[in-house]
Amino acid sequence: MDNKIDETLCPLCREENGCMAHSDESCWCNDVTVPQELIDLVPEAQQRKACICRFCIEKFNANRVAFTAKIRNESGDVASLRKIDITQVQS
Ligand SMILES: [Zn+2]
Ligand SMILES: [Zn+2]
Repeated sequence: MDNKIDETLCPLCREENGCMAHSDESCWCNDVTVPQELIDLVPEAQQRKACICRFCIEKFNANRVAFTAKIRNESGDVASLRKIDITQVQS
């Protein structure tokens, strides 16, 4: 495994996170609150290094049970993260 951290990729879904922290502009992630439970799902070595993407934050907020289960059980299948059906659980 390559342990190098790519700060442009979301540590959860491995898609581009759109982070602006490395440019002169301030990042959108400074304006959103990332739930601590979501941060806890990021491998420790990557916490606070690479931003979690907006998509993961939205998915987590919409259906955190399904999202957490996906992370925990299917970490090798990160592509499926994007297929979580958030229309099911809306209470
Ligand atoms: Zn993501
Ligand atoms: Zn960021």
